[in-house]
Amino acid sequence: MPMTSTDTNPRTPAARLAAIRARIATAAKDAGRRAEDVVLVAVSKTFEEDAILPLLDAGQRVFGENRVQEAARKWPPLRERYGDIELHLIGPLQTNKLADALELFDVFHTLDREKLAEALVKARDKGTVLPRLFVQINTGEEPQKAGIAPGAADDFLRRCRDEWALDIEGLMCIPPTEEEPALHFALLEKIARRNGLVKLSMGMSGDFETAVRLGATHVRVGSALFGTRD
Ligand SMILES: *Cc1c(COP(=O)(O)O)cnc(C)c1O
Repeated sequence: MPMTSTDTNPRTPAARLAAIRARIATAAKDAGRRAEDVVLVAVSKTFEEDAILPLLDAGQRVFGENRVQEAARKWPPLRERYGDIELHLIGPLQTNKLADALELFDVFHTLDREKLAEALVKARDKGTVLPRLFVQINTGEEPQKAGIAPGAADDFLRRCRDEWALDIEGLMCIPPTEEEPALHFALLEKIARRNGLVKLSMGMSGDFETAVRLGATHVRVGSALFGTRD
């Protein structure tokens, strides 16, 4: 596997975790915010138990996965050993995997369409306790990317509240790779604020400090913690 700066510096997973936490704290402080108000979601997708265990042993408890089946294979045994794990779904969810996802995840970051909202309502009506929910906004309006277009966000959030009685905790975005992420983070913050939402899931390995300065409450960091994915 090629070596990159993110997977060699610092060398141990615990040291990488400490370094990321310190960078989050510095960015929060710069923005007049408290480090405790930023949740680090360690994105463990594609990584197996051998890579995850050192982070658990270093005290990390909040993890993100983007595929339901992969998470269902990896996490139940880890949960048996480390009871207080919080699992976040950060990838698109097909409604035929919803039941499995509801069993596994504490938080969905990717409520991105009417059909999924309606499937959640149906599950709730059958007695399922829903996870905490973030609505994904496609801030770059990229056709290949999931999420609600910025212009449709207010209406979708209103329907979540009035039509579906879904309790929305915040918003999430994944900026286009070629664009300045700060513009997208600022747009997400603006949409959240005018809709009375306070949680923002934004920022990844390359831009989490910018996200924290612009108000991120959840940063989703993968490769800077675990190394380069194959
Ligand atoms: C993979 C992924 C991340 C983590 O990306 P890194 O650049 O490795 O930190 C964050 N958010 C989502 C939605 C992802 O799919």
